[in-house]
Amino acid sequence: MNLNSKKSEIDELLEKTDKLRLSDSSKTILLAQKAIKLCKEIDYKLGIAIANYRIADAYRNMGKYEDAILLLFDSLDFIIKEGYYDLEWWGYNCLGIIFSDIGDYVRSMNLYNRAQIAANEIALGKKYNINFSKNEAIVLTLNNIAENYKFLKNYKEALNYCTTAYNIDKEYDFSLSKGITCLSLGEIYYLFDDYDKASTLALASIEYLQHYEYDLAVADAYKILALSYWKKNDFLNAEKYFEITINMNHKQASVYYEIETFLAYYGFLESQDKIDRSLDALKHAFKLSFNNNILNKITETSGLLANFYEKVDDKINSFNYYKLYYEYSNKRLASFNNQLVKNFNIRNKIYEIENEKKKIEKRNEHLKRKSHDLQTIVEKISIISELGQSITSITDLDSIIDILYSSIKNFMNLAYFAIGLYDEQQSLINYLDVINNDKKFTKNSTSMNNTNSLAVKCINTHKIIIINNLSEEYSKYIDEIIYSEVAIKNNFELNSLVFWPLLIKTKVIGVLTIQSTEKNAFSPYQIEMVRSLSSYAAIAINNALKSKELENLNRKLLFLSEHDSMTKVHNRGKFDSYLYHLWHKNINEKKQISLLLIDIDYFKEFNDNYGHVEGDNCIMLVANTITSLVNEKYFVARYGGDEFVVILPDSRLEIAVKLGTDIKNEMSKLNIVHEFSATSNKVTLSIGVASIVPSQDISINEFIRKADTALYSAKKSGRNTVEVFK
Ligand code: GH3
Ligand code: MG
Repeated sequence: MNLNSKKSEIDELLEKTDKLRLSDSSKTILLAQKAIKLCKEIDYKLGIAIANYRIADAYRNMGKYEDAILLLFDSLDFIIKEGYYDLEWWGYNCLGIIFSDIGDYVRSMNLYNRAQIAANEIALGKKYNINFSKNEAIVLTLNNIAENYKFLKNYKEALNYCTTAYNIDKEYDFSLSKGITCLSLGEIYYLFDDYDKASTLALASIEYLQHYEYDLAVADAYKILALSYWKKNDFLNAEKYFEITINMNHKQASVYYEIETFLAYYGFLESQDKIDRSLDALKHAFKLSFNNNILNKITETSGLLANFYEKVDDKINSFNYYKLYYEYSNKRLASFNNQLVKNFNIRNKIYEIENEKKKIEKRNEHLKRKSHDLQTIVEKISIISELGQSITSITDLDSIIDILYSSIKNFMNLAYFAIGLYDEQQSLINYLDVINNDKKFTKNSTSMNNTNSLAVKCINTHKIIIINNLSEEYSKYIDEIIYSEVAIKNNFELNSLVFWPLLIKTKVIGVLTIQSTEKNAFSPYQIEMVRSLSSYAAIAINNALKSKELENLNRKLLFLSEHDSMTKVHNRGKFDSYLYHLWHKNINEKKQISLLLIDIDYFKEFNDNYGHVEGDNCIMLVANTITSLVNEKYFVARYGGDEFVVILPDSRLEIAVKLGTDIKNEMSKLNIVHEFSATSNKVTLSIGVASIVPSQDISINEFIRKADTALYSAKKSGRNTVEVFK
């Protein structure tokens, strides 16, 4: 047999059980068990759950409440997981009925509430029985709630619920719920002595219920009809309906109902003074009670019989029935107590089951929350990795801190944020700006010798340090005195502290710390998130530091390429490019440029006699003298050998001559002995000056040559002098 045909066989069986469950409990169980066996062969879990529902329903009809409840709980679990709302409603509704049967009305009402919640979802979610509607479910449960109020003798509330059910049901013809609603409402109107309404509704309910062959309920409706006609003094009809009810009860072998009907019938006959027939009815009720050992009914009927015989002065019968009455009263009491204990046990067991369920639900909720947390973390982590990747291209440390801080603040509360950079050579931790309560501060460096620093510890161990409650955990890391110092310093405020080492591969380049005033402020997820951010931070900081290094190196190289290594003034190359730019700028702006060409007199002799080292010193002194006299807008360079130049942008000739004279005089004042100079006994300078407004008519070289010519004149005119090109 293939899978599909097996499945359809099962479905057929289940459909049969659905029809039978209202009329034949034992057959329902047999068929459902057969279905379960087939389901197991093809691992058809939903089939098993439904078959178990049918069995539970049958158990309930048979009063085997405990078994019914266990089955229902099990199946419900599966059904809720699968999301069949109609079956969920069914389970809760059935449980509600059972708890009502065992007198636990509070729990019953709770279950009906849950049933109503599920009923409302029927239209929205999956359902097993496509013909079953949300309204039908709601109405059936409303009737059950009304039933509970009837038990509690609150007929007004019962009427409310039934009326609501009836109003919802109005539009649906020939539905099972409509039959039940009419019956239920009819019963209430009977209780309110409105016999017209009661009988109309009972008649209507019969029409609907017959459609579903729900004979138990049909019989009930006939009984209401009989009672209503009796009260309306239509004895003929009353008699007729009593008979129908009794027949139906008998056919259905529903003994309890049969006894109750006979008792009602007895009342009816007695009220009409049909003494013999009424006695027959009563005796019949007694017999049924006795044969079926229904204790409360034996008590009730024997009491009534004793009364009856007492009235007709039949002392012996009266005595015998009284004896029975007392005997069964006691038995009933004992049995009632027994039942109480039994119900109590059932309730306890159910309580245990429910607790277990609650625990599982809680665990599920916890898992759900956890998975939700994880979900948000995954989202955040992807944001972090995006952010992290973009941060690594930022080379400005300040911006890195700002971005890190603001992004961390997005997902956690923190009072303090700092990044320390590890300077291995100096054995220091140098802090970048720290952020305390959203304000930036500078923080002093920490020596790596400071054994009480958590940052030092973090860098030394390469390990994350997590403190959730500083006042309790500090002793693991620092001694008490240090703790009190730290605590006083931060006003005993910081309680949660985390330190992450900033690692590039295995090399630690610094430490990142986040601190909060709250205890246990950071969840493992948050810590994990900052950890992933910190690895990007490490890369970003490393990049930034490297690019800074590179920048410095470039600056150095540039300096070297533009300066004379000995005197530190600009070199010839820089002079050329500087003058070139200035020249062309000034051609446009028509500004004057002046130039000094400075040469040491008889320097060859100086060198030859005092040696090269002294010569170098002399050159450096000349350079210093020149730079000490020029202001920053002038440009000084070593032109080569013992020659220097000063460019004076935007300056007239007189200014240049004045500067040249100052330099010459200052040099003279230095009194550097030069016994081998033909001009003086100290080092002197000869200076040529030229000045021009650049134009297309003259070249730079021509301009320089002018200064050179002036210098030559100075040399010729005896040195230690300033000459102007004429
Ligand atoms: P004059 O007064 O005409 O300028 O005579 P002079 O000896 O200064 O001129 P000359 O150009 O003949 O000599 C320049 C000397 O400067 C030649 C060289 O030995 C010396 N000299 C050039 N560069 C350096 C240097 O970097 N260090 C030292 N110690 N001497 C240098
Ligand atoms: Mg010279």
